[in-house]
Order: sequence, then C-alpha cells, then structure tokens
Amino acid sequence: MKLVILDRDGVINFDSAQFIKSPAEWKPIPGSLDAIARLNQAGYRVVVATNQSGVGRSLFDMDTLNSIHEKMHKALFAVGGRIEAIFYCPHAADSDCECRKPKPGMFKRISETMNTDLKGVPAIGDSLRDLQACAVLGCQPILVHTGKGEKTKAEGNLPEGTLEFANLAAAVDFILNESKA
Ligand SMILES: [Mg+2]
Ligand SMILES: [Zn+2]
Repeated sequence: MKLVILDRDGVINFDSAQFIKSPAEWKPIPGSLDAIARLNQAGYRVVVATNQSGVGRSLFDMDTLNSIHEKMHKALFAVGGRIEAIFYCPHAADSDCECRKPKPGMFKRISETMNTDLKGVPAIGDSLRDLQACAVLGCQPILVHTGKGEKTKAEGNLPEGTLEFANLAAAVDFILNESKA
C-alpha cells in the first residue's frame, strides 16, 4: 500500500509551545498542504498520528479538536488534498497510555485499521518521539526541520536510517522521486 504517515504540529502546521487550542491558531506551513495533495495525486493515502495532550490537560476539548481538524480538512480540500484519517492520543503526558508517542500504539492502530504492514512506510515528524514510535513498526523515519525539527536534529540520537529534509514539501519531493525510480 502506498501510505504516508504524518505528525501534525510542526509538520503540517506551525507548532506552538502554548499548544494549538483553537482553529484560529492552526496555521499551515507554506507548501505543506500542496505537498499532501501531490502525494494523493501520486496515489498515496495519507494519515496523521498526533499527540494531543492538551485534551487530557483540559486546555481544549474534543469539540475544539474536531473543529481544528475540520479546518485542516477544508484547507486541504481547497488544494485537492485529503487526509484520510487522523489518529490522535488525547491523554496527558503522565497518563502512561499506550498511544502517546514515543509509544507505538497509534502506529499499531494504523496498521490494523488500514490492514497493512508498515515496513518501509514513510513516517514524517519533527520530534524524536515521532521517529522512535514509527521505527518500532518498521516505518522509514523522516525528520523535517520545521517545528521542533532543528532542536531534534541538534539533540541527535535519531533512529538508524532516519532521513532529514528541510520541510514536508522537500520530504514529499524525495518520496515521489523514489517511487518513480
Ligand atoms: Mg510535532
Ligand atoms: Zn494516549
């Protein structure tokens, strides 16, 4: 299956240390929505796996998270792109759940829901925990330098074989080139 898994904050939209708590605070990184549309046009299915501990910390509720995602879906639709499913962990950082990255729970659910092996599936994130979580299932970890990416790069210890790109658009250029080869 042609599938790409994306982190949300710092990859698709600008991140905020204060959390993205409202649709107004959700602002796409230039080129990211077009990049998703280009994946779709090349036959890739795109899903998101995102930690949203702001729900567990009561910084925003599920209705708000849904309206943020509604805004993202609409903005994507306007450029011909589509995110097929959003997997999220709503739990607080201290909750010890199985889904919060770096735990691999969301990636296991993606594998089950999409009924596919994730070996070699590109998974794009800006934090070490994104890469650690995806690597458990054999995904191809890809670090982008947007969001927390520069800091993540500086801190090192990336999973073996991690690829790095300036942003989602550049990572997608690479994926589409590889798939042609
Ligand atoms: Mg992120
Ligand atoms: Zn969780």
